[in-house]
Amino acid sequence: MEPFSFSNILNKWSSELIQEIYQRTDEDKVLHALDKDTLSIEDLIALLSPKAQPFLEKMAQKANRLTRWHFGRTISLYAPIYLSNLCASDCVYCYFASHSGIREKRVTLTEEQLRSECIALNEKGIQTILLLTGDAPKIVPVDYISQAVRIAKEYFKSVSIEVYSMDEEHYAQLAKDGTEGVTLYMETYDKDTYDKVHLSGKKKDYLYRLDALERAGRAGIRRLTCGVLLGLSDWRLDIVWLALHAKYLEKMCWQSVVSLSFPRLKHTPSRFKVPHIVSLQELVQIITAMRLFMPYSPFNLSTRESAEVRNHLIPLGITSMSAGSSTRPGGYKVYQGTTPTQRPVLEQFEIDDQRTVEEVVSAIKDKGYDPVWIDFDPGFIKSL
Ligand code: SF4
Repeated sequence: MEPFSFSNILNKWSSELIQEIYQRTDEDKVLHALDKDTLSIEDLIALLSPKAQPFLEKMAQKANRLTRWHFGRTISLYAPIYLSNLCASDCVYCYFASHSGIREKRVTLTEEQLRSECIALNEKGIQTILLLTGDAPKIVPVDYISQAVRIAKEYFKSVSIEVYSMDEEHYAQLAKDGTEGVTLYMETYDKDTYDKVHLSGKKKDYLYRLDALERAGRAGIRRLTCGVLLGLSDWRLDIVWLALHAKYLEKMCWQSVVSLSFPRLKHTPSRFKVPHIVSLQELVQIITAMRLFMPYSPFNLSTRESAEVRNHLIPLGITSMSAGSSTRPGGYKVYQGTTPTQRPVLEQFEIDDQRTVEEVVSAIKDKGYDPVWIDFDPGFIKSL
């Protein structure tokens, strides 16, 4: 017998079944879902449906109330550190893809360079970081990431990773090094779209990626962050599958916190046009509906969104934001001074919120919220 995994649940919740529930949704079902404290998947579908759009204001008010109830008026801050922009996979939407045709410089930080980046971010007050690489395990192996985590731990209280999917033993090694969280987006749960946008490389293995966060949870990683790239496929299906995945992870990895991100795909290499553009109104509907479905889960928003949009979304369910980000290796110090006369270092995507950490902090305060630099006690992990 095949071992039970999230793919069994995914098979049960086919696109046909979900579409059928969307078709049956009416205003009464939306109002019923809005009234409930604990929502079923059918309730979530009602809130994600076009029928819920006239009730966005009510959804926003409830999302605001629930978020304040569970998190207070706080926004946690973090920053990404790109360790490398080399990648052996070919994802059509990504500048790091092996065949994106970008001629900018590809680099992997040395230990000394990583320390310079850590010091530069430390000086801005950042205490929570996310280490990222492309999907190139032969050039950027697990041992390199493991050493990078140990170095970063000398400077920051919380270190998470967003790298390629790996075996459970490797996640265990990284947990032992002090990795607090693993972020890994499925990008899209729609198998056909997944095959079309992931042309080659390790990432093409859909099932291996689908089960990666569960392996990380089993290996002792404390925070598991999942998400889809909004714009790749029909978001009304992908968000339902994401919600099912998050609930599944909560159940299977009950010692971990499951958090969600809502990245909208905007800037892509010229060979790929975003096929399902998600409007701001739809993004608000997604975040508020998910907040009602998962009232206590941390929600992240990156600098892919503009300053204006991020300010607007603060009271609607977001609990964590990146700030002062660079999406290129060495972007805080080592290659910061790259001029047009030098070959610039390749960035993964253009960021829309260019504000400094101080400016983001002041915008959060202006909204009546408190910035949080570290949202857990690292000593707690050591004592486990
Ligand atoms: S999305 Fe990740 S795996 Fe795909 S090309 Fe970009 S860096 Fe590589």
